[in-house]
Amino acid sequence: MKVDFYGHVRQYNNIKNEIDANLQEVIQSGQFVTGPMLKRFEGEFAAYSGTKHAIGVGNGTDAIWLVLMALGVGPGDECITNANTFFATAEAIWIAGATTVLVDCDPKTKCIDPAKIEAAITPKTKAIIPVHLYGQCADMKAIRKIADQHKLLVVEDNAQGIGAHGDGFRIAQWSDATATSFIIQKNLGTFGDGGAVVTNNSALDARLRQLRNHGSTARNVHSFGFNSRLDDIHAAILSAKLKHIDAWNDLRRKWSARYTAGLKGVKHLTLPYEAPGGRHIFHLYVVETKDAAKRDGFLKYLNDTGIDAKTHYSIAIHRQAGYPWGKPARIAGALANAEYNAAACISLPMFPELTAQEADYVIEKVLQWDKAQ
Ligand SMILES: *Cc1c(COP(=O)(O)O)cnc(C)c1O
Repeated sequence: MKVDFYGHVRQYNNIKNEIDANLQEVIQSGQFVTGPMLKRFEGEFAAYSGTKHAIGVGNGTDAIWLVLMALGVGPGDECITNANTFFATAEAIWIAGATTVLVDCDPKTKCIDPAKIEAAITPKTKAIIPVHLYGQCADMKAIRKIADQHKLLVVEDNAQGIGAHGDGFRIAQWSDATATSFIIQKNLGTFGDGGAVVTNNSALDARLRQLRNHGSTARNVHSFGFNSRLDDIHAAILSAKLKHIDAWNDLRRKWSARYTAGLKGVKHLTLPYEAPGGRHIFHLYVVETKDAAKRDGFLKYLNDTGIDAKTHYSIAIHRQAGYPWGKPARIAGALANAEYNAAACISLPMFPELTAQEADYVIEKVLQWDKAQ
């Protein structure tokens, strides 16, 4: 049996008529860039996020650095983020010209450990950028408190958590802005690249609309800016998909619960932890080998049995080869949990369109591996 990692084509075929109708609407309107479909999706996405504004941009990485730039974070400033995140979080801070400061994660949730943030703060610190890693909310209550005490900005990297919530809080509720990605493999994904910022700050909204579009406020009127817009074609796909995101996330939760129940007895793996009171939407279902040295063998075994498991992310950011402009990340404290995560993580296939047969095949093969150790 073969089990894929993604279900992009299955998902499209399930709602083909809705997506095709929206695409036709854009094509027949003749308006492809900052047109009515983008406006419509921005309205829908702001409503879904519970924010006043949503600004579509080119991708999730741009969403982060455009926010930092619009908020005046740049050279000489420091931004604190997870040591264990996709490289783009750190990269976006560098693109804005600021210094990336890496803090270790909580060993259970894998989100940034709030207890370790305080020690990383210096007079140069301007922002905390928590990542809702794998689809689980960072501890925004604790992070907001630290930010208030030190007068710091909070920018959420929500590339992986659309539809998640924390214990008594929503994403985007307690931050200055929230950046998200719509690249195809994210829970809400377009057929290519896309991203957005959501915020309640109207001045920031206006600044971002200008920055994403050559600094333009009106035809032929420009100040400094960029070209980073969400195309109407992508907005059309996302508008159709947004109606299904909660049901799709429910399915991810269903498959995750099936994995966790089926794998309950394993001796050589640690299964994902769900913090009580929140809604983890399992962008990724990540297990860790208790012995990090066994990870690569486990991955090969899964791939050899037809299961397209992957690692997210097997080289920690501070272990990557090149830093831009000779500006390494500042490492705040030991990053032992992040390093262990990089060495031991395996993501099992996780997408709404999985079948019970596929999930059970994954369980069967993982149990066989566990027994053989
Ligand atoms: C995907 C991702 C990004 C970047 O998004 P792109 O749209 O690929 O630029 C940033 N941060 C995290 C945590 C991500 O998973």
